[in-house]
Amino acid sequence: MSLKILIIEDEEKIARFIELELGYEGYLTTKAFDGRTGLELAETGEFDLILLDVMLPKMSGMEVLRRIRRVSSVPVILLTARDSVIDKVSGLDSGANDYITKPFAIEELLARIRNALRLVNRSEQSEILSAGGLQLDTSRHTVNYMDTAIDLTKREFDLLYFLLKNKDLVVSRETLLENVWGYDYAGDTNVVDVYIRFLRGKIDEVFGIKLIHTVRGVGYVIKDE
Ligand code: CA
Repeated sequence: MSLKILIIEDEEKIARFIELELGYEGYLTTKAFDGRTGLELAETGEFDLILLDVMLPKMSGMEVLRRIRRVSSVPVILLTARDSVIDKVSGLDSGANDYITKPFAIEELLARIRNALRLVNRSEQSEILSAGGLQLDTSRHTVNYMDTAIDLTKREFDLLYFLLKNKDLVVSRETLLENVWGYDYAGDTNVVDVYIRFLRGKIDEVFGIKLIHTVRGVGYVIKDE
């Protein structure tokens, strides 16, 4: 089933551009060109995510956001004007999940949308993922090998989760960075190798198994023993 995204943006060119690009990605979209119409649509509860311009006619983006938050925790990404620091701060304070500054590259917007949707899915779904004798439980936030609990930091847990979620698929360092560290992470990609070492130290080495494999020049894959 396609995810539905509401675009509240009074600059029609921008709204159409976003609509077109999201359409290519398989999202269903609805546009609103002013705050009041946008709010009415948002209040139907039909949308999986909302893109909300801050400067809107009839009702400001911030007011729309405040009213949405009275009734819904739907992910909202603010579209802010360049360098308007106040928008960003007050936007996140009043319950936006993320913001993006105009003009933006469509790839960046798509990454932020995926990120916002992924965070929602992760908090709502309880999953148990496994490989070999290893089990990760998202609702209890625990990792076990056979009956032994493994103590992981949040980052190690998120990295292991992503690898298990993609079990038997080789995942590149870039993909891991984007999904585990977040799109904004500006550090060295070597950080992925460092954390893979941490995980191996706590899992493979402790239990004398080989779960996390390096695929030279490509990335990492987790496999059943
Ligand atoms: Ca505007």
